This record gives sequence, C-alpha cells and structure tokens, in this order.
Amino acid sequence: MRSHRALAPLDELILTVLSQNTSDINCERAYAAMRQRYPRWQDVLEAPPAQLVEVLRPGGLANQKAPRIQAILARLAASPAGLDLGWLAGQEPEPATAFLTALPGVGRKTASCVLLFSLGMPVMPVDTHIHRIALRLGLIGPRISADAAHPLLTAITPPDRMLEAHLLLIEHGRSTCRARRPRCDDCVLLDLCPYGATAATRPSAEQADAG
Ligand code: SF4
Repeated sequence: MRSHRALAPLDELILTVLSQNTSDINCERAYAAMRQRYPRWQDVLEAPPAQLVEVLRPGGLANQKAPRIQAILARLAASPAGLDLGWLAGQEPEPATAFLTALPGVGRKTASCVLLFSLGMPVMPVDTHIHRIALRLGLIGPRISADAAHPLLTAITPPDRMLEAHLLLIEHGRSTCRARRPRCDDCVLLDLCPYGATAATRPSAEQADAG
C-alpha cells in the first residue's frame, strides 16, 4: 500500500495517474524515474513524448500514461495558476473536484485522491475494493456505480476519519472481503452484512466448480 505521505497536489495528481492499473511498487518506481529525469513539471511537459514513454515504462501502460500526463500539464500550463495546484486548498471539495475532473483523463477517483491525500479534504476515493465492499454491505444500492458512490460514501463517513476509513477499507478488500471467495467467516462485519449473511447458503467456488 502506498505510504500516503502528503505530496503537493500536482505531484499527487500525476502519481495517481501513474498508479492506474499497476502495482504500487511499479508506480512509485516510474514516478521516481520521471522526477529524477525531469525535476520540474515544466521539464515533463517539454520532454520528447517517446522519451517520456521510455522513462515511464516500468510503471506499465506508458504509451497511454505519458501522453495523458503531458495533456494534463499542458492544460494546467495554459491556466492562470500554471503548473501549481496549491490554490485548490482554498476551494470547497465540489468545485475542486469539478476542476480536476475537467482535466484530460482525470476521473472522480483520481480527483478524490488528490483532495484527500494532498489537501486533507474529507472526500472518499472509491476504488474497486471500496465499491465492492459498499455493495456487499448494502451501503449503496446494487446499481450504484463506483463514480456515483463517491458522494454517497463521503456523506456517511465521519470527515475526521475519512483517510483512516479509506485505507482500512482497501486493506479489508485485499485481505478479507476479496472479490473472489471473501472470507466472511473471519470478517468482523459479518453481523452487519447482508451478503455475508447469505454466505452459508451459497456454494463455495470450489463446490461450484466441482458441480
Ligand atoms: S461479511 Fe463477507 S461480504 Fe460482508 S464485508 Fe465481510 S467479507 Fe465482505
């Protein structure tokens, strides 16, 4: 799991873009290589595209992430505040989210990560683990997408425990409420969980496979 040391908001944004669909280790390796090669964001913006792809190669999907990062930086460079998102600290979460999600390739989860991790705003980033757990626990309706779950889960989480809840839910999703074969019998939330309550009547994956 990423350490979640507080980074500057633009650093966090680019790191989060790099983290999409890759492991934390590969993401941090690619980010470190990029910062070493191009110390300033202006340098990343001006890097030859093919060279940036090579630098980001260890992070996976470099052919998509390099142009996305340069598109984000180009958009910001053309904005009044330039390559600095520090001004977001003075914004409310909703307009800050709207600004970030208007950037190329930036979705609600990425924007929420920037606001929570870098700026300490009480918003819940909903990744695949948190979305799955919320569905199983009945915290959101069965047709609610991960995107739509962001404001709903933010609203029911105590603001001063948002980061802690986010990190614990991800850990819960990785270790216990796994996508396949959740360990409901070992889960501290079993008494509260409609999905877990039906676990005893569901065939296990092994039984289903055998059947
Ligand atoms: S009881 Fe099972 S489904 Fe419910 S939260 Fe725990 S592991 Fe997930």
